[in-house]
Amino acid sequence: MENEIEMNRPTWVEVDLGKIKNNFLKIKEKTSSNVICVVKADAYGLGAARIAKALEDAGAHAFAVASMEEALFLREVRISKPILVLGYVDTRNLHLASLNEIRITLFDKDFIKRLKEYESELPLRIHVKVDTGMHRLGISISETPYVFDELSKMKNIYVEGIYTHFASADSDIEFTNLQIKRFNDVLDYLKQKQALPPIIHAANSAAILNFRSAYYNTVRSGILLYGISPNPQKITIINDFQEAISIKTRIVKVTEYEKGEKISYGRTYITEKKSLIATVPIGYADCIPRNLSNRGYVLVKGLKAPIVGTVTMDMMMIDVTGFPYIHPGNEVIIVGTQGENKITMEEFATLSNTIPYEILTRLNKRIMRVYK
Ligand SMILES: *Cc1c(COP(=O)(O)O)cnc(C)c1O
Repeated sequence: MENEIEMNRPTWVEVDLGKIKNNFLKIKEKTSSNVICVVKADAYGLGAARIAKALEDAGAHAFAVASMEEALFLREVRISKPILVLGYVDTRNLHLASLNEIRITLFDKDFIKRLKEYESELPLRIHVKVDTGMHRLGISISETPYVFDELSKMKNIYVEGIYTHFASADSDIEFTNLQIKRFNDVLDYLKQKQALPPIIHAANSAAILNFRSAYYNTVRSGILLYGISPNPQKITIINDFQEAISIKTRIVKVTEYEKGEKISYGRTYITEKKSLIATVPIGYADCIPRNLSNRGYVLVKGLKAPIVGTVTMDMMMIDVTGFPYIHPGNEVIIVGTQGENKITMEEFATLSNTIPYEILTRLNKRIMRVYK
C-alpha cells in the first residue's frame, strides 16, 4: 500500500529512527543527565507517535509538549513515561492532567489561585518555570519565595520540578551565563529553604552543545534529536550527531526546450540555450519556500540542479541540462545525501532565510513520512 501511495505522489520525508535513537543516546552520554525529549508540534512535524515510541524504547526519561491536547495524544498512543506540558493549561483540565500523569507548568504567580481551586484526592505534579531572561513564560525571580511558600501549604500539589529557558544559548555566551547565575541563585535559595524540587532543568539543544554548566540533573532536547543544529550560523554540530531527516521526491516529467523559452508562472526564467527541464511534484504547499524561485537547488544523480522559474503550490521545475540520462522516476533530493553530494537541513533553511525548526514544522501533512 505504502508503495502505491508513494507512486501516486512520490514526495516524502524520510525519518531515520535508528539515527534519532543514537542522537538521544549521545545527548544522554554527553550531559550525564536525564533527557526530556521535546516532541511538541507533532515532534517538529515528523510524527509524535512514532518518534516518541522510538525514543521511549531508547530510554527517554520523559517527554515535553506544548499543550494538553498534545500530551493526551501521547497517552492515547500508549506513551507511558512522564509528560510535561510546557505551555498553558486551562484550570478545568487539571484533573485530567492528574488522571493521566501529565505534569503541568506553573509559569505565572496568579496560577496559585487556580491551583487552590484544585480539589482532588489525586496528586497533581507541577514544574515551576522561572523567567531568568527569556521574558516569555515564568515567574520572576522575586516571586519565587511567595510561590514556593504558597505551594508548600497545598495538599495534593507536588512540586516535581523547577526549570528555566534560555533566550540565546545559540549565540550569546555572556547573557546565557547570566541566566545560569540567576537560576543558580533561585536554586540556592530553595536549597536553604529545603524546598528544592527533585528535577532541575534548563538546557535546550543549543545549551546542550554549548553550556556544560546548564545540565543540572535533566536537559530538554528537541532539534538535536534529529541531528540538526539549532543555529547553523553559529553552531556546527560535531560528527557525534547524525542527520536523521531527508526530504525527497521523484521527477514526473522531463522536457527539452529550445533556447528562449520561458518557464512557469510569470515566465521569469528564460532558457539560455537548448535546455532539459524536469518537473518535480513538490511546491510551496509542501515545504519549498516560494522565495527559492530561480534561486534554490536540489540534487539529481548526485549533481546540483537549480530550481528554475517560480515555485508553484504543488510543483516546480529544475534544470537538468547535460545530466546523465534523466527520466521520470529519478530521485530528487531536497534535503539529504545522494552520491558524493548532500544538502543539509541547515543549508536548505539558511538558503530559505529561515531556521530548520520552521522548515520541519511546516512540512505539509500530505507529504508521506517514511520511517526507517
Ligand atoms: C521547544 C522547547 C525546547 C526544545 O528546544 P530545542 O532547541 O529544539 O532543543 C526546550 N524547552 C522549551 C521550553 C521549549 O519551548
